[in-house]
Amino acid sequence: MIKIDKVNKYYNKGKANQIHVINNTSMTLPDEGIVCLLGPSGCGKTTLLNAIGGLDKVDSGTITIDGQRITRFSSNKIDSIRNARIGYIFQNFNLLDDRTVFENVAIALRMIGIRDNTTVTARVRYCLEKVGIDQYRNKLAGSLSGGQRQRVAIARAIVKNPSIIIADEPTGNLDSANTLEIMNIIKTISKERLVILVTHERNIAEFYSDHVAEMKDGKIVKAYNNDSSRFLDYQLENKIYLRDMAVHKGFRQDDVNVDVYSDEERQADIKVVIRGNNLYINTGGRLNVVDESANIEMVDEHYTAMDESYFEENDFDYTACLPSKYKARYTSVYRLSNMISSGWKTVKGFKRIRKFLLLGFVFAAMFAFLAVSNVMGVIDVKPVDYRTTNGNYITIPNTAKTEDLLKLVDGLETVAFVLPGETKKMVTLPMDDYLQTSYAQEDLGVSIVLTSVLTPEQLVAGSMPADPHEVVIDKALIDEFLRDKNGLYIGLDTMEEFLGRRLMVPNLDDYRIVGISDTESPSMFVDQSQAMYILSNGNDLDDDFSIMGVGEEEDTEDLIRSGRVMDLDLSKNNIKIKKGRKPEAAYEVILNEYHEDEVEIGKTVNVKVAGRKLNVVGYYTSDAADDDTYYVHADTVKADYIGKQKNFSAYAPDVALLKSILEKEGLSFKVNDTRDRKTYINSRKDQLTSSIIVAGIIMLISLIEMFLMLRSSFLSRIKEVGTLRAIGLKKKDIYRMFTGEILVITFITAIPGIAIMYFALTQMVTITYYIEGMYIVTPVIAAITFAIILVFNLLAGLIPVFSTMRKTPAQILARTDI
Ligand code: ADP
Repeated sequence: MIKIDKVNKYYNKGKANQIHVINNTSMTLPDEGIVCLLGPSGCGKTTLLNAIGGLDKVDSGTITIDGQRITRFSSNKIDSIRNARIGYIFQNFNLLDDRTVFENVAIALRMIGIRDNTTVTARVRYCLEKVGIDQYRNKLAGSLSGGQRQRVAIARAIVKNPSIIIADEPTGNLDSANTLEIMNIIKTISKERLVILVTHERNIAEFYSDHVAEMKDGKIVKAYNNDSSRFLDYQLENKIYLRDMAVHKGFRQDDVNVDVYSDEERQADIKVVIRGNNLYINTGGRLNVVDESANIEMVDEHYTAMDESYFEENDFDYTACLPSKYKARYTSVYRLSNMISSGWKTVKGFKRIRKFLLLGFVFAAMFAFLAVSNVMGVIDVKPVDYRTTNGNYITIPNTAKTEDLLKLVDGLETVAFVLPGETKKMVTLPMDDYLQTSYAQEDLGVSIVLTSVLTPEQLVAGSMPADPHEVVIDKALIDEFLRDKNGLYIGLDTMEEFLGRRLMVPNLDDYRIVGISDTESPSMFVDQSQAMYILSNGNDLDDDFSIMGVGEEEDTEDLIRSGRVMDLDLSKNNIKIKKGRKPEAAYEVILNEYHEDEVEIGKTVNVKVAGRKLNVVGYYTSDAADDDTYYVHADTVKADYIGKQKNFSAYAPDVALLKSILEKEGLSFKVNDTRDRKTYINSRKDQLTSSIIVAGIIMLISLIEMFLMLRSSFLSRIKEVGTLRAIGLKKKDIYRMFTGEILVITFITAIPGIAIMYFALTQMVTITYYIEGMYIVTPVIAAITFAIILVFNLLAGLIPVFSTMRKTPAQILARTDI
């Protein structure tokens, strides 16, 4: 039973054009029969009906259906009730025009949880047969005539065995013949159900309904049981009752019979010609042919008013073909599979221009991938990208230039060794394999590390050094070299080919590469005996090629030009000792013979190295006329080097541990790895900002496009949405419906877009190493990009749906009527 109690509803409440459309109305509706809301157009019938059916909200008062107060429920609950209990028939049918007749009816069954196809088919076809339209079940609803469509709508309303059927001017858009047929069907289905019928046609109301509630200006002004005699005086325009025609003239001659009927005396000039098999008729005016396809029918009888036998012959079994004891319960019609399949159908049905617009999404996806891979490339810095020294070094300033601090640090258990200064040096890789390349060489910026800390596990090729002149260099150095392709012309293009090659350091004997390590840093592992020689002779990384000479002390200036000799090799340096001996200890020096008269052996020259003057131990003769080199012992250079360093490098196998110890000691220091990383990131900050801005703009464009596209798709389907909502589809299913579409659009555009850019970037990386590191091109980044695009698209695409879903079904339908 439905009870309406003091219901009020306004449109445009509080505004100048406020309408009090339902005015304190109360009413009780029975459980069976047709209850007719009768009243002039605009009196509020539809509004009241929508309130009862849960399509719209009221401002005050209560409506209860079998004791359940629907005016208090959330829209979700109302949807559930409407879905299970109410069948809706609308004036303008509200069918899904691009689906088949069968689908239009079947969806109502699926929504109440009937999934079994055999049951669905049997039940739908039973209902279609009952309304006389089964033969059209595979046609698109949009292709049917008005009368046929209303039959589909009735089948949809009754298929789920609802206890209440709401029919809002169901014949309002139909001609009179269809009106009667539809009303007869409605009358048939009302035998065991409540049908609430809205009409403004009094004769229809009085012929068909069991109860009439007359409305005026939002109020029920009269309510009564209708037991007036059941006659319907409803002349059908499409029937010509021949016996009621005023004039009838017949002409009969041999085989020719002609009957002429007219409403009054009229002149009839008709010429009929039969030539061959063709019949020609000339009426002198308009001619209407009545054949099977005509909607006009001539009946050779008098018009009689219709009586109850019209609808009493038929009946409708509400439970036919339905599972017994079935209880209707709302069930979502969208699972992922049919979300996708119906989304795919929609996208496939896009007009050409809209399909073309999908290309925009492909481009957006391409650039989104470019942007994401760029941002990730800039953010994701790998040790090999930024490390300038071995990652285990900590740099400690030695401002006091005393050995105490150095000794203190060196004494720490966590410290493997300490080297003065930074460990960065330039060593030279000669590439003089061929005559044509005799002068070819490449400088490698290396970080000097002692072999003692190298473990065999860190080796990726070759072997551990066995001799002081054997070294191990890191893969990071080789990779960078190979990327530049500088070794191609001597065929140096694989890591293994580096094994056995020479490395040169000024003034020192060559070193030989015997192993390759992988420490993710530009390390060169050298013997302890060689480390200081290399550090003090190797060219500095930062100020390229300026050879640091001992003579660059403030008071030596021109005296010592450049180039010093360690372990003086007389043959190599093309000098001969003329007097005295070669330097054998630190601070010993030999001078060119032309200084013999200036400084005696045993005296010092006015050249200071690390604060001490050099002792002359001999003189040499040189092939080069102007050789003014002060040849000293290697340890002198070492002392000079150490004396000049402002800090020293401590190697700790466990950097974190050393860090915490130094912190506790209160010493200042820098972890090389952290420092290098910061420097590197700072240098790329601008790039990161621009990458993020570009990515943001691309995403925004994509977002706007998706929003516009889905908004227009949504607006073009607002009628469908309104219909689905009206027949009980819940909001979440509307979201799913559009989510399916967005998923399909995203899949078919983002995947090709990302794939194209993926391919392009991998190609570019092989062509120019410049972009490597700036872009990360991996399946993970592709997946991240896809996820970002998907989230963006879902957001943009569902915004218009979201704003519409806040409206009641009646409000959505009202929009589509405009
Ligand atoms: P009926 O069904 O009796 O023709 P309605 O219930 O459709 O009447 O409408 C009652 C009155 O409310 C009419 O004056 C109509 O113009 C007005 N009305 C209906 N829907 C709206 C709406 N969504 N916004 C504002 N006014 C409306």
